Amino acid sequence: MLTVLGKDYISRIDNLNNEVWIDGKKIDGKISQHPAFKGVLKSKAALYDLSNANKETFTFTSHITNSEVNFAFKQPKTKKDLERRFVATKEWAQSNLGLLGRSPDYVNTGIMALGVANSIFHEDKKNYDKNIFNIYKMAMENDLSFTHTFINPQVNRSIGYYEDSDKIIAAKVIRETSDGIIVKGARLLATQGGITDEVLVLPSGGNFIEDAYVYAFSIPSNTPGLKFICRESFVNGESNFDYPLGSKFEEMDSIVVFDEVLVPWERVFLYKNLEIACNMFSETKFNTMLLFQAITRMIVKTEFILGLAETIVHSINIIEYQHVKDKLSEVISTLEIMKSLHLSSRFHSTLDHFNTMVPDYKPLNVAIYYYPRIYPRLIEIIQLLGGSGMILLPTEEQFQSPISSYLENYLQATNVNATDRVKLFRLAWDLCMSSFGTRQTQFERFFFGDPVRMGMGLYNSYPKESYVKLINDFLN
Ligand SMILES: Cc1cc2nc3c(=O)[nH]c(=O)nc-3n(C[C@H](O)[C@H](O)[C@H](O)COP(=O)(O)OP(=O)(O)OC[C@H]3O[C@@H](n4cnc5c(N)ncnc54)[C@H](O)[C@@H]3O)c2cc1C
Repeated sequence: MLTVLGKDYISRIDNLNNEVWIDGKKIDGKISQHPAFKGVLKSKAALYDLSNANKETFTFTSHITNSEVNFAFKQPKTKKDLERRFVATKEWAQSNLGLLGRSPDYVNTGIMALGVANSIFHEDKKNYDKNIFNIYKMAMENDLSFTHTFINPQVNRSIGYYEDSDKIIAAKVIRETSDGIIVKGARLLATQGGITDEVLVLPSGGNFIEDAYVYAFSIPSNTPGLKFICRESFVNGESNFDYPLGSKFEEMDSIVVFDEVLVPWERVFLYKNLEIACNMFSETKFNTMLLFQAITRMIVKTEFILGLAETIVHSINIIEYQHVKDKLSEVISTLEIMKSLHLSSRFHSTLDHFNTMVPDYKPLNVAIYYYPRIYPRLIEIIQLLGGSGMILLPTEEQFQSPISSYLENYLQATNVNATDRVKLFRLAWDLCMSSFGTRQTQFERFFFGDPVRMGMGLYNSYPKESYVKLINDFLN
């Protein structure tokens, strides 16, 4: 039986009592009651309930745990498995319009990739391969949720910079004991840090000259010394009318501080091995599988944007203008490009030596090159189509006040009454212009890494030889 219902998930996170700091205060008591986290925890809980309501789509029987577990943990072995994963991921994302960038299936998919390919972590006289396999098994058995962190603090990004001051900034191993490694310092960011069961800490490039920076592990979010320092909350209120998206899907981002955290050896799956650190993401197909999830979510988000844009143009009756249709065509093209790239990755999938049916990385890599660049344009299109409607947005309270009749008259649109029109435009504003929406744009730009360096990665990894040969053959 699948272990976790939404309410179980919430009480589990409450009971962890993770050390989460917001607005200069440590959260005491239930984090699920805190205004900054209430909405997102409910939305995450809804995902667990969705799985329990439709087990055929969202669960499978694992031969490792001999139980029913969440779809994200399933090793795809056939093309049909990939199709099923696509459908399940898509339906989960639809429940939040693709706005939960780190729904539990995101990192859980990565845990699956690491767990299945555990042998690449093998080292003589160490248990690193077993450790990551056990983390995978435990995550499956308990339907755990993870945040992950892989970037060092943004102190100095110049080419030659290497942190060597006595005051530690980027998290590093400062001691080894018979129980484990002691980690001190910080990692730049973890979305949902503090509201997941575990934190997956992955090797971060940049400081690799020293062994102390070469490590990977997963630990419970309530491990002593582990602190999550949050940015300010973008939940501006609980009203569904006023803040339709932020009230439900504000994920929060936090700095992760390791204040001499003891990471038990059985939680470490990489240490001091630079070669594994450099190759693990490609060899385990970690990035490919994460992108499979992420591009699916982006498709759902683009469907939402298209639906929103189409509803707006009909509400104020601007569809007859050519430029309006042209702008909608840009959104349609984005959607079809993203869908085609994902389809291509499934169509060209191949079995690897771990017996995993791996989607083709090339189209997924193109999609993650393309979307961070096009997403801000999609947001701009909604802003251009909405005009002042994106700004003149009285609150729910105003509609219930003595001046509501003015609002009903002056804010009506051709095809909707004033209340529904403002409700629609507030949705658009929350996606494009509120603090929640602006963070969404920054998230899509950066969530898989710096787009500039990802572009370099695409060029470097793309097989170009056959096209060069074409030119040589022609010239000769
Ligand atoms: C909303 C949000 C949520 C996130 N969530 C997570 C998360 O859950 N977990 C996680 O681990 N990370 C997360 N990230 C971090 C994300 O991975 C990083 O933002 C991304 O890798 C870029 O790193 P950076 O922010 O340090 O930017 P930088 O690397 O500091 O880049 C800043 C600028 O400098 C340029 N630059 C820097 N170095 C170079 C270089 N070597 N060559 C060329 N140009 C360079 C960049 O192109 C960019 O213009 C999140 C980021 C955001 C914005």
